[in-house]
Amino acid sequence: MPSWRDPDVTVVGGGMAGCEAAWQLAELGFRVALCDGKPAAMSPAHQTPLLGELVCSNSLRSDDADTPAGLLKRELRAAGSLLMTCAAAHRVPAGAALAVDRFGFGRAITVALAMHPRIRIERRAVDDWPEGPVIVATGPLTAGPIGALIRRELGGDRMYFYDAIAPIVAADSIDHDHAFHASRWNKESVPEGGDTGEASVGDYINCPIDKPTYQAFVAAVNAGRQVTPHEFEEPRYFESCLPIEVMAKRGEDTLRFGPMRPVGLTDPRTGRWPYAVVQLRPENRYLTAYNLVGFQTRLAYPEQQRIFAMVPALAKAEWLRFGSIHRNTYVDAPRLLGARFEILGDPRVRLAGLLTGVEGYIESCAMGLLCAHLFADERAGRPPSPPPPTTMMGALYQHVRTPRGPKERYAPTNVNFGLLPPAPAGLKAKDQKRRAQLARAIADFDAWAATRRAFVAAA
Ligand SMILES: Cc1cc2nc3c(=O)[nH]c(=O)nc-3n(C[C@H](O)[C@H](O)[C@H](O)COP(=O)(O)OP(=O)(O)OC[C@H]3O[C@@H](n4cnc5c(N)ncnc54)[C@H](O)[C@@H]3O)c2cc1C
Repeated sequence: MPSWRDPDVTVVGGGMAGCEAAWQLAELGFRVALCDGKPAAMSPAHQTPLLGELVCSNSLRSDDADTPAGLLKRELRAAGSLLMTCAAAHRVPAGAALAVDRFGFGRAITVALAMHPRIRIERRAVDDWPEGPVIVATGPLTAGPIGALIRRELGGDRMYFYDAIAPIVAADSIDHDHAFHASRWNKESVPEGGDTGEASVGDYINCPIDKPTYQAFVAAVNAGRQVTPHEFEEPRYFESCLPIEVMAKRGEDTLRFGPMRPVGLTDPRTGRWPYAVVQLRPENRYLTAYNLVGFQTRLAYPEQQRIFAMVPALAKAEWLRFGSIHRNTYVDAPRLLGARFEILGDPRVRLAGLLTGVEGYIESCAMGLLCAHLFADERAGRPPSPPPPTTMMGALYQHVRTPRGPKERYAPTNVNFGLLPPAPAGLKAKDQKRRAQLARAIADFDAWAATRRAFVAAA
């Protein structure tokens, strides 16, 4: 047990984000109290007293550096991630994926943190803010007094408890022979914050569907296999944000009067409204990725791939992310958090991990790492210096920071190529573009990591 009394910072929650944040902070020279409620206070998904517990799959996804998840892992390693070191030590054979022995992994993290001279582990559920700066990383199942505290800090009911994610498709895989650009009634809407010169949220791509295809589509959605909710997940949906399979069950025309309604969308090739339409909205300002408007779904991923391919414009779609709906506590980070993930109403309190609106073990870990570095920037009197947006970690940071349009609901993301800026102009082939994006990400991240090392050395 360290001999010092007062920590420089308290980290609440010893999961993916909290453990990584605590380690980075300690390595940066700060004294850290890391509080976790386990084993006395356990969420419905946590089962062991170990810190860094993987609540479900033991896979940290692909370790192939050509994939978004592999690229993020490379960046985490370059930044000295504790979780990546422990994962390497407890890796189990899983092809191209980085899967771990979950107990070995959690034990290694717990021991490393317990042995660090600048970390004190406190086994207690935090239900009031401790003195001094706090990083809250209590994860997707945040509940009880701490949930109420965060809600109060945010200034009311501004936390989400379920995410309803619509699928995202790569722009260059949409078949434009079967699609047309138009906004409903030709109205252009201006993004929140005024005209930024970026993509207007009115700039939709519309994928028309004729009657027989629509009928077959609805039948396929009705028969499609769905992901079974966890025991603690009570499927409660907002009427304005229903999954497509719930709408399809209500009647054949429900989707056609909901997210697939064609009114006001004149197809320039026919001069008429289509029978039904799937609308695609830009997912990023680079216009390299589009989401399927209103297509939140619990359909299993292979089913989404199969069923959405029935839409002619999406027959050969490359899916950057599939839709999902699950229990997930997160906040509207672009509106409520500052550049250091601090709550704008109380900058002493910062959020990290899934609470900020990222999805996945490694993404949460990355946000914990970043939160620690942003804290160090502040303490050194420097402006926040996240990695550039051309890197996967920097792109995640942008996701959390970028304001959304007035009608857009902020939704968590995991890493995907749609988050990265496009490859430099002039490259035609898709694999060339990907390689250029990857090479740029690696070079930019290594440069960032080198400046951080110099910063630590100078501190
Ligand atoms: C059921 C479920 C399954 C998931 N499966 C996967 C998956 O297979 N793969 C994947 O990549 N992602 C998965 N996720 C999503 C997500 O990536 C993980 O939940 C990830 O662990 C989030 O990291 P985190 O650090 O934000 O929170 P967590 O890892 O959940 O850590 C939160 C920690 O905070 C502690 N805590 C909570 N409240 C308090 C308090 N008041 N005081 C002190 N400590 C507290 C908890 O004990 C816990 O240790 C899943 C999520 C859920 C809910």
